[in-house]
Amino acid sequence: MRTVLIIGMGGVGSVVAHKCHQVPDVFTKIVLASRRLESCKHVKAQVGNPEIDIAQVDADNTHEVVALIRKYQPQLVVNTALPYQDLSIMEACLETGVDYLDTANYEPPNEAKFEYKWQWDYHDRFKEKGIMALLGCGFDPGVTNIFAAYAKKHHFDELHYIDIMDANGGDHGQPFATNFNPEINIREITQRGKYYEAGEWKTTDPLSVHKPFDFPGVGEREMYLMYHEEMESLVQNFPEIKRIRFWMTFSEQYLTHLRVLQNVGMTSIEPVEYEGHSIVPLKFLKAVLPEPSSLGSKTKGKTCIGDMIEGTKGGQPRKYYIYNICDHEACYEEVGSQAISYTTGVPAMIGSKMLLEGLWRGQGVFNVEEFDPDPFMEDLKRYGLPWEEQFL
Ligand code: NDP
Repeated sequence: MRTVLIIGMGGVGSVVAHKCHQVPDVFTKIVLASRRLESCKHVKAQVGNPEIDIAQVDADNTHEVVALIRKYQPQLVVNTALPYQDLSIMEACLETGVDYLDTANYEPPNEAKFEYKWQWDYHDRFKEKGIMALLGCGFDPGVTNIFAAYAKKHHFDELHYIDIMDANGGDHGQPFATNFNPEINIREITQRGKYYEAGEWKTTDPLSVHKPFDFPGVGEREMYLMYHEEMESLVQNFPEIKRIRFWMTFSEQYLTHLRVLQNVGMTSIEPVEYEGHSIVPLKFLKAVLPEPSSLGSKTKGKTCIGDMIEGTKGGQPRKYYIYNICDHEACYEEVGSQAISYTTGVPAMIGSKMLLEGLWRGQGVFNVEEFDPDPFMEDLKRYGLPWEEQFL
């Protein structure tokens, strides 16, 4: 019997639960846990599998996670809670000797900064314990890293220039809402831009560098240069990379709202005193914005996320574009979620499957591009995220 414990029953966790349920020969037993039992009950009812077990857990507390793992004895813990919980859940996996997988790298709550260092530092301890952690197995990070590994394996001798481009052409009809956790999303977007070129990291003012791109399935959109975590591991694992950048599209309406919220201080993570209480403005903003999981039924349109790669093959220059197009309404019809949660949850299920089937194995802490991309790429087509490639 193979048991998977999924912690964090928000938009992404719900998709992982649905997709694991679709592959019962691999995930013979599913346990859902979250800060609120209500969230687990909701997802269990949506999936419609009475065999699923549910539990309440505060994943900030390693002892609670350890007790949960001891109770259900899973082979794998999938972390779809927030980046703040990564280290406490990894600690619990170490203590109990269980494999770990997540979709976003650790971020300290009181500092809007994300980098792999904190989690890479666990490598030796995971290795000694003989267990494995697979980091960043969503779409970006996740599939975008695997696209690069696939390009390297099949089409290039060297990858020189990579532009990861993420377009969301979806419209949810709300004046302002984010497609994944609003707090994490806004922390990410309001940071300074950063990209890698000629051996060093260069920074830019937030969202100051932008250009249009005609995305397949979505159309022309303005995309903005941002920092994103997959660049850190790709540069490490493909040292021949000369430049790597990450771009994401935003509508003018979204940016106008964000600018106003920033200008009035609502995106700040510095606590303020309000009527005798200490309040973090961004956390309060999250509380009044729509829950990403509530947007599914309202969102129409498509996403297109992929890698534009230039490099060499047999001494000749080559340019190649690999991408997935995902339809918000089709995702909602299948699993009751919009495409952002879907494109993150499906790869997390496939990564979990790679681990449990023994196709991706190692001892220590790994990023997804360190493994053979082929079985993962096949499963993307099989489980709802078909990809396309163009030689330009
Ligand atoms: P949501 O806010 O919808 O869900 C997060 C869930 O985590 C909530 O349901 C919440 O539980 C639970 N949670 C929060 N704190 C705790 C805690 N202390 N203990 C237990 N559970 C907790 O976020 P998303 O589903 O949109 O995002 C989930 C993760 O996926 C994030 O880390 C995000 O950064 C990542 N992500 C990755 C992407 C990728 O492509 N790699 C893309 C999009 C997101 P409850 O409901 O019970 O209160």
